[in-house]
Amino acid sequence: MSAQILDGKAIAADLRATVANEVKALLSAGHRPPGLAVILVGEDPASQVYVRNKERACQEVGFHSELIRLPADTPEDRLLAVVDELNQREEIDGILVQLPLPEQIDEQTVIERILPTKDVDGFHPYNVGRLTLRMPLLRPCTPKGVMTLLERTGVELEGLDAVILGQSNIVGRPMALELLMARCTITVCHSRTRNLADKVRGADLVVAAVGRPRFVQGDWIKPGAIVIDVGINRTDDGKLCGDVDFDAARERAAWITPVPGGVGPMTVATLLENTLQAARLHNN
Ligand code: NAP
Repeated sequence: MSAQILDGKAIAADLRATVANEVKALLSAGHRPPGLAVILVGEDPASQVYVRNKERACQEVGFHSELIRLPADTPEDRLLAVVDELNQREEIDGILVQLPLPEQIDEQTVIERILPTKDVDGFHPYNVGRLTLRMPLLRPCTPKGVMTLLERTGVELEGLDAVILGQSNIVGRPMALELLMARCTITVCHSRTRNLADKVRGADLVVAAVGRPRFVQGDWIKPGAIVIDVGINRTDDGKLCGDVDFDAARERAAWITPVPGGVGPMTVATLLENTLQAARLHNN
């Protein structure tokens, strides 16, 4: 058996086209374009790449976008003042503070300063709480993007045994809440989990978000399972790879996401979707 590939690049392009059409409809109804402000503190090379991709995506769909660059030694109260100002501005619907932040700044304090209706990353406790209570508003982009990918398989998720590897606030935990809301039976694994391979062997759906190259071995995959690889790792030869041993896993899975070209493009496209949703909230 060779798995069908869940082509995140193509599905993300569809999603961006849908957002671009909705922006046109907003404009012709006399509304302003949705606005996203991205704050980048310092010069972390990976963050610079992510921010550039987000800016490019905003331009493609016709958003108003602003990039605010602050030096690495910016004090926390200065960053909070920038967030306060963006919270007030009407033409800004979404505020994204690129993580990680330098060590003098407390990430949680900054996240909680963003107005929940402008929290397009979905990390504010208000938005996490709403997701927990099954009444989501702005949902974390990576897990929401995974749900869009899963919809495209056409597979009924209700009742599936889903195993999530990783329990971070940005991926593993909200992923568990999304899949629980879809009525999967969920198991969340982390670095203290015992018999992890056996748990994966029982899974109809595996989401790997560990950050270790090819951690999930092919023979752990239940034949016919759906395999979603969130991991982005760089190997010694400079290539990108996921958390799953793709070549081996694809021989057993029914569906699998590649790295690159799987979950990554969906995260950025979902950020656009969230910003459009925030703009609608503000227009109403
Ligand atoms: P993270 O905060 O470092 O969390 C990693 C999780 O994996 C933790 O819960 C950790 O357990 C668990 N873990 C680590 N080693 C393990 C092991 N040997 N066995 C079982 N569990 C283990 O990472 P993250 O931010 O969630 O990101 C995870 C991966 O996804 C990274 O490769 C990241 O680059 C990628 N990512 C991709 C996207 C995208 O758009 N595609 C978005 C975000 C992240 P403990 O909690 O016990 O420490």
